[in-house]
Amino acid sequence: MHVQQQISLKSYNTFGIDMPAAYFTEVTKPEDIEALATLQQPVHVLGGGSNILLSAPVHGTVVRNCLKGIAKTAENDTHIWLQVSAGEVWHELVMYVVANGWGGVENLALIPGTVGAAPIQNIGAYGVEVKDVLTEVSFYHLENKAFVTLPAEACRFGYRDSIFKNELRGKVFITAVTLMLTKKPVFNTSYGAIEQELQAMGVQELTVAAIAQAVMNIRSSKLPDPKVTGNAGSFFKNPTITTAQYEQLVTEHEGMPHFPAGEGMVKVPAAWLIEQCGWKGYRRGDAGVHNRQALVLVNYGGASGGEVWQLSGDIVASVQERFGITLEREVQVW
Ligand SMILES: Cc1cc2nc3c(=O)[nH]c(=O)nc-3n(C[C@H](O)[C@H](O)[C@H](O)COP(=O)(O)OP(=O)(O)OC[C@H]3O[C@@H](n4cnc5c(N)ncnc54)[C@H](O)[C@@H]3O)c2cc1C
Repeated sequence: MHVQQQISLKSYNTFGIDMPAAYFTEVTKPEDIEALATLQQPVHVLGGGSNILLSAPVHGTVVRNCLKGIAKTAENDTHIWLQVSAGEVWHELVMYVVANGWGGVENLALIPGTVGAAPIQNIGAYGVEVKDVLTEVSFYHLENKAFVTLPAEACRFGYRDSIFKNELRGKVFITAVTLMLTKKPVFNTSYGAIEQELQAMGVQELTVAAIAQAVMNIRSSKLPDPKVTGNAGSFFKNPTITTAQYEQLVTEHEGMPHFPAGEGMVKVPAAWLIEQCGWKGYRRGDAGVHNRQALVLVNYGGASGGEVWQLSGDIVASVQERFGITLEREVQVW
């Protein structure tokens, strides 16, 4: 492994924040993995950098996961199991699966980042989460220096959450995930504007390819392209509150949207809360809140991680003051 020193991470994070890493290297082959223990600690694992905010210089070693490969590990009449190396690009995997006509990940098209990061926050979009198709996560435990394979049931997947954001946070180098895909796809078009988009596309017969294309069209029209404006997608999670709290709040804030989140709980769209507090389109220096999607914080070019962090803190404080709801950051802060 070639280790570099004092490397700018600007081109390695979709926010485009210019922050140095004391040491930087890439893992390109399985033989590199055990050498992670010999690197300057702590090790920070990097995928596509699309869900991180670099708030301070990174000490230790940033290790970019570049492990590649897709292997079919099992197949029966109805399903196919793929073991996919962590450094594969998620969207390219989706396109590969869709090209084969297999179902399960078409609603997750165009989510940036790598396959290895997908289980970290249980990526999700348009009514589907990666936990719906994931059967196993394989990783190298950086402290125990051991290779482990965890079945999905042990990953404690939740809404943008997993064991990897909690007990195993910062302790694992995910090497591969196994996905179970269906040969007889069950389509999920009820969420968001998918049906509307399929109609606009003139789709007569539903296929995984048509759904993936509809999702890509919607996402491209709604979300800022990080290549143009730095961002990390949704900055905050949609908060979950009790139905009782919601019923109280709606008497004071007419029209407050909500959707079910299990027994006695509802989710409130964070974008709505942020917009109500007047942040949509707000700009402070080069840090701002996107003018079409209030959930997305942006870097117009020269914002520092600290400035984005400060802005996010001010948003959290104002939502707390107005609604008594604490917003949680979805983005991982380094
Ligand atoms: C425009 C845009 C749209 C987005 N839309 C969505 C969306 O619809 N749904 C959604 O869920 N997310 C969305 N995201 C967030 C992001 O794409 C996902 O969280 C993605 O999984 C991050 O992948 P990454 O490889 O870029 O991870 P990184 O940003 O590189 O890393 C994220 C975290 O995972 C850890 N990590 C990464 N790889 C590994 C590994 N191999 N082993 C151990 N730890 C690792 C890192 O240490 C870090 O803490 C969006 C982001 C952007 C920029």
